[in-house]
Amino acid sequence: MKKPDFASLPASFREEYRRHILLRVLGSAVLFAAAAFLCTRLDFSALRYPAMGIVMVFAVAAALACILFRLHALLRPSWQGTVTEVGAFERIRSTGTRGQPGRRMMVEVTVDRGEKKPYVLSLFRADKIADGAAGVNLFQTHAPYKEGDTLVYLRGLRYPARFGVTVTDELFEPEFVCPFCGEFYTMERKTCYRCGRTLLF
Ligand SMILES: [Zn+2]
Repeated sequence: MKKPDFASLPASFREEYRRHILLRVLGSAVLFAAAAFLCTRLDFSALRYPAMGIVMVFAVAAALACILFRLHALLRPSWQGTVTEVGAFERIRSTGTRGQPGRRMMVEVTVDRGEKKPYVLSLFRADKIADGAAGVNLFQTHAPYKEGDTLVYLRGLRYPARFGVTVTDELFEPEFVCPFCGEFYTMERKTCYRCGRTLLF
């Protein structure tokens, strides 16, 4: 897997990313420390397997760390790649709203990360204004990833970021995905509308 060249990213973005990771690591560490403290206070001797009590407390701490601090995303390695294909297909789910089968358009982005098999991202974000059951996918209407794009994914982020977009032959203004929260933005933005973090451009 091709690793991104971290040093080539803008300094303001690197700084934002470092803060983001530090907060998540520290937050998770506090949760695990709290779990360790709880284990010294709780009496598991009434349980059939007292060690299971400790395991349970740490499992809850890990689950909380994933929900609150996206700890699981920190375990996904960083990569860099080139978009080779962008496609869309309809996915029919058995349980939609009001019990009807839900239809949604999925956007599939195929990325060459220098491995034998291409990597495929399946993307969906519902349009809050439109009815969710209509299955409108913001990744299709905003089209933030294009064929030929260089994508950079850094450990802990929610989405890969388009990097090095200079010349565009796009009909409309190119759009980007905030790698921290998934909000869409145009090139002139320096910070995200939704999460306020410094963006890659
Ligand atoms: Zn954001």
